[in-house]
Amino acid sequence: MSHPTQTLMLAMVVQLTVLVLVSYPAWSVTDVGRETRRLAGRGAMQITVGIMLMSARGVVPGVASIVLAIGLLLNGYRSVYASVYVLFGLPPPPAWERWLTGLATMAVGALWAADPSPDATVFVQPRLLIASLPMAAISGSLLLTLRRKLTQPWPLGARYVASAAAFGCVINVGRSVAFLFVEGRVDPLKTPIAVVAVTASLASSLLLYIGMAMQLETHAREHLLRTNAELTRQAFTDGLTGIANRRHLESIALVELARARRHGWALTVLLIDIDHFKRVNDRFGHAAGDNVLRETAQRMLVGLRSHDVLARWGGEEFALLLPHCSPTDAEKVAERILNSLRQATLPALEGGRVTVSIGIAAARHDDDDFQAVVARADHALYRAKDAGRDQSMLSDEPMFAA
Ligand code: GH3
Ligand code: MG
Ligand code: MG
Repeated sequence: MSHPTQTLMLAMVVQLTVLVLVSYPAWSVTDVGRETRRLAGRGAMQITVGIMLMSARGVVPGVASIVLAIGLLLNGYRSVYASVYVLFGLPPPPAWERWLTGLATMAVGALWAADPSPDATVFVQPRLLIASLPMAAISGSLLLTLRRKLTQPWPLGARYVASAAAFGCVINVGRSVAFLFVEGRVDPLKTPIAVVAVTASLASSLLLYIGMAMQLETHAREHLLRTNAELTRQAFTDGLTGIANRRHLESIALVELARARRHGWALTVLLIDIDHFKRVNDRFGHAAGDNVLRETAQRMLVGLRSHDVLARWGGEEFALLLPHCSPTDAEKVAERILNSLRQATLPALEGGRVTVSIGIAAARHDDDDFQAVVARADHALYRAKDAGRDQSMLSDEPMFAA
């Protein structure tokens, strides 16, 4: 196989790898993924075009097949490596990489200008050195950064990427050294060393891309887990006050009610409604009203046991589920809440106060569901409102434990 065909095939392999890499949907899940894909995709495209131009030596002008080709290869190499920094959350790659690749390209341009003959073999060795050493430096730099910044134990993807970088470093240094011993003016692409070096470079690239794909997998999975955890939290949290929402309390109540029934334990529910809340909104505005809801919720949380559940039931109404709590103890809890709010001056009301009315009900053996308990608490709450507000009222229907 002639060398242009070989290099073209190599270019196609790189191209295909990149196509697979950029079409992987997991990239678009996060900003990190998108940025990695952008840099790696751009870099690999540049490398591919560079290889194609190089393999077209003799067909296209030397300025394209030598100067432009090496410029693209160096820039592409730098871009692919920069994408690794993004993917692994490393600090940005060192700034010298940019000017080193720029300077190297200019130097290659100067050498080509000094020998613009079609086969341009006078400065083959220096050209190769100028092209290889920046790549070795870029690879080595990534390896050092990984070692310094990535905490142990490294994920598998990092180990692949580090191996690829070590490999890339060795190949480029080795190639430069090997060519120092090649005699005469030869086209570096036509020697056995070149075939070995190019194949090794391809292997290193593949290793790098495999490591990156592994890391992407980990990255996307962690993102998914974080998102799921956050969604679960949101699904059970009231957006305004940050306490549990109605759904959360109801799901816990279901379990607690069954448990109370089975063991004959007490279970009580408090429905807590802010008094004359409409006036708060009318006088201070809806935003202040929202703050009052937040501050009231936070106040009521104080002193609760870990298995008590306070939830926003809706509007300016809260529900408090008290497992293992007798009606008498529930009345004490209600009294504590009433007192705490009577004493609390709320910043949202410029030092003013709010009071609440509370309906208390206990679970009974014959309750079909939690709604039956809530209905009795609601009834008691209306009686508390009727009796003048700022007080609690216990449902007068027979209790669970009675
Ligand atoms: P009562 O003592 O009888 O409970 O009087 P009230 O004014 O508190 O009762 P009512 O049910 O008539 O009014 C409740 C008000 O709560 C009406 C509604 O605009 C207000 N409200 C409900 N949800 C929110 C909210 O999320 N934010 C604010 N700022 N106001 C709310
Ligand atoms: Mg109210
Ligand atoms: Mg209400």
